[in-house]
Amino acid sequence: MNAPVTIPPVTFDRRADFPAIAGWTYLDSAATAQKPQVVIDAITRAYATDYATVHRGVYARSASMTEAYEAARVRVAQFIGAATPEEIVFLRGATEAINLVAQSWGSRLQAGDRILISTLEHHSNIVPWQLLRDRTGIEIDVAPLTDDHRIDLDALEALLTPRTKLVSIAHVSNVLGSIADIARVAKAAHAVGAKLMVDGCQAAPRLAIDVQALGCDFYTFSGHKLYGPTGIGVLWARADILADMPPWHGGGAMIETVSFERTTYAPPPARFEAGTPHIVGALGLAAAIDYVEGIGLDRIARHEDALARAARDMLRSFNSVRLFGPDDSAGIVSFAMDGVHPHDIGTILDEAGVAIRAGHHCAQPLMAALGVPATARASFGIYNVDADIGRLADGIAKVTRIFG
Ligand code: PMP
Repeated sequence: MNAPVTIPPVTFDRRADFPAIAGWTYLDSAATAQKPQVVIDAITRAYATDYATVHRGVYARSASMTEAYEAARVRVAQFIGAATPEEIVFLRGATEAINLVAQSWGSRLQAGDRILISTLEHHSNIVPWQLLRDRTGIEIDVAPLTDDHRIDLDALEALLTPRTKLVSIAHVSNVLGSIADIARVAKAAHAVGAKLMVDGCQAAPRLAIDVQALGCDFYTFSGHKLYGPTGIGVLWARADILADMPPWHGGGAMIETVSFERTTYAPPPARFEAGTPHIVGALGLAAAIDYVEGIGLDRIARHEDALARAARDMLRSFNSVRLFGPDDSAGIVSFAMDGVHPHDIGTILDEAGVAIRAGHHCAQPLMAALGVPATARASFGIYNVDADIGRLADGIAKVTRIFG
């Protein structure tokens, strides 16, 4: 080990808001975030006293639940700067949102059309496009990374062609924490007539999002990474694009009229919300948004920035550690250790009460590009404090002792 590192104090301590992390150093928020009591209370209240279905009932409780569900849509629209709440489609999460865009919007693509993604994408932003490629004969281009592990935007721009119909990239990498300049990509994509889809799963909990300022056409994120419930997520798309997209799932709630001869479809967002939605999930997500905005996204970003930098400095003090991702990574730090499998790092840390993720992080092509089978990843959330870096340091010291 090199010289000891001083860890700067972080900006706030919200551990008391999160009942599930008592006595535990949870460094896996990029996989899923723990839930604050206010979100747990909102979910409990919705089931215990307020529960009824939405959009169909004639009784008062159903009307008030419908109001709350639609208010959650308004809350999400405000959160990401959507022009209208009708641009917000509630889905299970980002995976479902990207599949929706691939199957619905993508159904108009033809052989020879191209979609441009990047090397660092999560499987959920790769496989739906491959399924579309298999159905339609489109081509998929892949932008490489820079040496400091960002999407190489010069190379991305060079890959744009008049046949490129869509660029689909992560706002923040779930492995590297690198942040993409979305406004720049939007301009470049639009210059060739392509649309831009942004996977905001790792950005929504860490950065203030304004989809109109970003200039993208589609944006998605999952509620569970934003301190909300699982099973609820969001697709935002510009109203004119959504209005032009065909339905993808058929069933109740997405229709205007149904007969055996002919069915007509509801306008968005209902057109894309077939079946009884995750009513309570939407309410929980709205409570989570209230919670994070109560703290302030800017403060959260600074807090996680301080933690990620401290973690990087601490990890650098171990000669055997190799870091991935840029120094200004957004709350996510991936690393490997000479001669130690990341799973062993994870297991030893778990014994020390520190939870990290080890594996390919649903980004196998990125692992191949980095030349590793897997990485260890520490990712930070609202509830982490500088003591967590100390515990991580103690755990890494133990790994180096065990593996020599
Ligand atoms: N994209 C990124 C960057 C992610 O980190 C994740 C979740 N690990 C997803 C997409 C998929 O999100 P979900 O599993 O919630 O649909």
